[in-house]
Amino acid sequence: MFARSFIDSLDFAGNGRQISGEVPVAEMPRLLDALESPQGTLEYTVRGVVDKQGNPLLDVGITGNCRLRCQRCLGAMEHAVRIDTRLLLRDQASLEALDAGDAGGEEEEFDSILADAHLDVLNLLEEEVLLSLPIAPKHEFGHELGACQAVGGGNEPLRQAQDRQEEEKNPFAVLEKLKRS
Ligand SMILES: [Zn+2]
Repeated sequence: MFARSFIDSLDFAGNGRQISGEVPVAEMPRLLDALESPQGTLEYTVRGVVDKQGNPLLDVGITGNCRLRCQRCLGAMEHAVRIDTRLLLRDQASLEALDAGDAGGEEEEFDSILADAHLDVLNLLEEEVLLSLPIAPKHEFGHELGACQAVGGGNEPLRQAQDRQEEEKNPFAVLEKLKRS
């Protein structure tokens, strides 16, 4: 059983702490929903930092592999996870101000998360991996294309996308099509 880690995030940043480890993909239920199989392990490092402006930050690094489901053929596709991100720890009030959009035109340099005194590291890692995944993963053209065929109703969505591209290139293509029909 994988041991869940919790950190006091502000203390963790303030004292420059670091944790690293491995987590099986199978321990991340929300991520599993997006995957083709529960195979794979992710290595992670979370490092606490305070920048020159005094902002408490977490540097999150995640690497590993998982298997996505191709949206065309529904087959498995290997996906390399390479995440290197910096998160700003904010208190509840400042997060709410940010959500309300009145952060005073402040530039959003980093993504923000709640400065939780009992931050669930696994949950944080899962969130970051989910955000990094492609929305509609598909096998690349030319790569195993023979094996990647749309299931069921042919490759209709693909054809529509190509038509749309044609129309953008040539606005008269739409008229052509109207005349033809
Ligand atoms: Zn495919």
